[in-house]
Amino acid sequence: MAILKLEKYGSSVLREKSLPVDKIDDEIRRLVQDMIETMYAESGVGLAAPQVGISKRIIVIDTEEEGVIVLINPVIVKKEGELHEEEGCLSVPGVYSPVRRFSRVTVEAMDLNEKKFQITQEGMLAIALQHEIDHLNGYLFVDRLNPARRLMLKDELKNIEEGKQDEVIRE
Ligand code: ZN
Repeated sequence: MAILKLEKYGSSVLREKSLPVDKIDDEIRRLVQDMIETMYAESGVGLAAPQVGISKRIIVIDTEEEGVIVLINPVIVKKEGELHEEEGCLSVPGVYSPVRRFSRVTVEAMDLNEKKFQITQEGMLAIALQHEIDHLNGYLFVDRLNPARRLMLKDELKNIEEGKQDEVIRE
């Protein structure tokens, strides 16, 4: 297993529509293990393959009750309610902002045995599912903020894009 390098805001792979996975092979299994290790190393609650530079429809979510859930080709099949909670993203370090999301979602996906399953989550895990699935479609949470809020974050986003973020943190 290995901890993978995270792609940050400004990286083109974060803006691509990821490709579906049609077969689970050793390469996919290894990628999933590395994604889980990377998510833990970075203290994230979820991670999508594009965040480690792989344009494939794979996400991992850390749930307290059921451990890590691996979702391949996830699709939201039911959504309801609304909430507005603060989000952050390992690919947009240091930036946090409330985002409007559905409060409860049902997602259909394939597991590592190529079996279809559905999960329904609410609250923070529903947010995590929507946030990670957004990554597979080339969206970041900052895209969902209103224009005024995005304008406020303009300099921070620019710093991440230009790789100056580490310097800013050290100051
Ligand atoms: Zn993210």
